[in-house]
Amino acid sequence: MPATDPWTAILERIDDGARLIGLDADIHRMLSVPARVLEVGIPVRMDNGRIEVFTGWRVHHDTSRGPGKGGIRFHQDVTVSEVKALAADMTLKCAVVDIPFGGAKGGVQVDPRRLSDGELERMTRRYTIDVASLLGPDKDVPAPDVNTDARVMAWLMDTISMVRGEAIPGIVTGKPIAVGGSRGHVGATSQGVLICSRAAFTELGMPVSGARAVVQGHGKVGGPLCYLLSSAGMRVVAVTDADGGVYNPAGLDTLALADHVSRRGTVDGFELADPIDPASIWEIDCELAVPAALDGVITAEVAEKLGAKVIVEAANGPTLPEADGVLERRNIVVVPDILANAGGVTASYFEWAQSRQGFAWEEQVVAERLRRIMETAFQSCWQRSRDLKVTLRRASVALALERVGEAIALRGLFP
Ligand code: GLU
Repeated sequence: MPATDPWTAILERIDDGARLIGLDADIHRMLSVPARVLEVGIPVRMDNGRIEVFTGWRVHHDTSRGPGKGGIRFHQDVTVSEVKALAADMTLKCAVVDIPFGGAKGGVQVDPRRLSDGELERMTRRYTIDVASLLGPDKDVPAPDVNTDARVMAWLMDTISMVRGEAIPGIVTGKPIAVGGSRGHVGATSQGVLICSRAAFTELGMPVSGARAVVQGHGKVGGPLCYLLSSAGMRVVAVTDADGGVYNPAGLDTLALADHVSRRGTVDGFELADPIDPASIWEIDCELAVPAALDGVITAEVAEKLGAKVIVEAANGPTLPEADGVLERRNIVVVPDILANAGGVTASYFEWAQSRQGFAWEEQVVAERLRRIMETAFQSCWQRSRDLKVTLRRASVALALERVGEAIALRGLFP
């Protein structure tokens, strides 16, 4: 029975990739332990005058290819195992798109919806200081992730800049444009998902135009993605979120849906579609399924009845290892998270470069460079999957490990 504990699960995938490429055993051992894990207790003065203490982490998995890179998530269910696994995912993801970063991730065990704006800001600033020893443009560069956004990144940058007495825009990505963020960062993950979906359809000889898609999640990634997919000619037939689901076999009006979500905060109640049970989304007969919300949603059971021919993983870790074999047996092609959602970290790379250059790129420059990197990464993974005769996921991990392994070998071991 494959593991469901996130860290054990990623180790299994690393072990598999290492076997596929015959990775040096010493390097394999180094990648089986995170380089550093910092756990912090974060005391925050609440609006009622009491102090609450939240637990948070910042993890570096491997920094051989460059500074640590990865988001910070605020969620009540975050565990250290999850943050370690997501940091390792980032190591692999940055290597897949061949950008000069290692893997890092942060998390705070908190339900941010329970905090006032003031409490959220104080918690963010205190967490930032508590993990500041790990951060820096040449050490570790955080970014948004689940329940964190440009505003949280602005607080993070401001906190470090205030304490160190100088502007340090390169310490974080996903900042608002007004304080050094990049054009085209918002929506970059969704763009990358679209590029991968198109590329997969082309390789499989499936027409994009008229193809039916279902999307789980209508947030930072799922929201823009629905519009991008329909602009590319697909019919987005179902969208679900935590509060409900909507279905229209003729294709949803994605602009009207986005407008509804911006007013109501959920897809639920959208008039131009039928309501559906969110759990039923995976059974809908379609060409493309995009999990763009939580991890662990594609279980072996879901995989057995999945109605799609292609899955493109916009979320991190949406497919449990137990489902991998089922999907392979059913010939369902999976574009894995470390490739499919790498558009976000690629745009972060551009933002980091601009922050350090002190020079803002035009939107078309960002879009064109993003397209090139994503298409190249897709082709490299696809080719590797052909050469090794394994799934795209296993091939992508193998390719990433080869690149990380090369960096470790070239740098040698200190001291
Ligand atoms: N949180 C995003 C991810 O998981 C972006 C990370 C980044 O830009 O550093 O890929």
